Amino acid sequence: QPVLGILGGGQLARMLALAGAPLGVKTLVVDSAGDACAGQVAPLVVADWTDYEALARFASMVDVVTFDFENVPAETAHWLAERVAVSPVPGALAVAQDRLAEKTLFRECGLDTPAFVAVDTREDLGRAIAEVGAPAILKTRRLGYDGKGQFRLKTVGDADAAWAALGAQGAAHGLILEAFVPFERELSVIAVRSREGDFRTWPLTRNWHTDGVLSLSLAPAPDIDELQRRATELARTLAERLDYVGVFALELFVKDGKLLGNEMAPRVHNSGHWTIEGAHTSQFENHVRAVLGMPLGDIGARGLSCMFNWIGELPDPAPVLTTTDAHWHDYGKQARSGRKVGHATVCAPDARVLAERLNHIAHDLGRDGQAQPALQVLG
Ligand code: ATP
Ligand code: MG
Ligand code: MG
Repeated sequence: QPVLGILGGGQLARMLALAGAPLGVKTLVVDSAGDACAGQVAPLVVADWTDYEALARFASMVDVVTFDFENVPAETAHWLAERVAVSPVPGALAVAQDRLAEKTLFRECGLDTPAFVAVDTREDLGRAIAEVGAPAILKTRRLGYDGKGQFRLKTVGDADAAWAALGAQGAAHGLILEAFVPFERELSVIAVRSREGDFRTWPLTRNWHTDGVLSLSLAPAPDIDELQRRATELARTLAERLDYVGVFALELFVKDGKLLGNEMAPRVHNSGHWTIEGAHTSQFENHVRAVLGMPLGDIGARGLSCMFNWIGELPDPAPVLTTTDAHWHDYGKQARSGRKVGHATVCAPDARVLAERLNHIAHDLGRDGQAQPALQVLG
């Protein structure tokens, strides 16, 4: 029986373990927190990323190691790769951990990005603002997620406030200043590549963020025309360049009808959760298949899907549980402000039925505002 090892024990590891079970795959998870939510569905090794004794034992018990958490230190990934197969390769992880390396690679692969400049000092920031202009976003190069480690500059006069907020982190890991893009739409492409180089992308997903955190996804994204072909081509170029095996996500802005690369996630992604019920094969199942050397499954969508993220605390599950083809996901985490604690996916054969189901659920939950952007698009 194949054994999948996962570094990080959050909801992504939990959903990977659940997807692996019907394939006969056993999962073993490592996390520094004894209450990591994947531990409710798979055995958990409690260890931190430099506990090499525990990691050696973990490596000896698994066939392949993969990631729930993209910020596992590169040294840990390299150390493991000397002992056991690691997918994606540590080199791909390293690029995705650094916004500067990531955006540089995007441009090399033909994917345009927002204007950006590396910032290490207060003087750099002044020069970067002169070059990029305002509005702009100052971001930590490493370790940011869910909009953390970012400061939005409305005008050039916000430079001191931005430096006060992030300067200390800049000294440690470096910063990047990006032009703020008044995008028309935000999209993501979830892609998978097998060991043999079989490459597939699910239909593009349209995403809406609130305060830097994903709130709502709609898939397949309506009215994307030739963007699907273009996004697939770019994702394939990236995957081949990185010799990538497994699932990854590419976050994109659409500006003046053209794609700009925001960031990539070297793992399964929140905007791909809809694939569990909304596609023939989910991102989680195809990731497990890819890293264990199994053939990939069909990535086609069944109708349309809309996913709500539950942030901070779960709403009443009843409206979702009682709606046809609506699916409840409780990650088993403690409620905490800003934390992703669950999601729900609503599927339907067409836009009209999806709008009906969304309206009904959002109204009963008192979440009309959260569903509004998708309802507007569905017409
Ligand atoms: P994630 O949780 O996706 O890893 P993150 O903390 O890495 O998030 P980003 O993806 O860089 O952060 O930014 C979060 C969101 O903020 C984006 O999805 C987008 O909505 C907005 N954003 C980020 N950068 C820009 C930009 N340059 N212009 C306009 N909006 C932006
Ligand atoms: Mg990110
Ligand atoms: Mg992001």
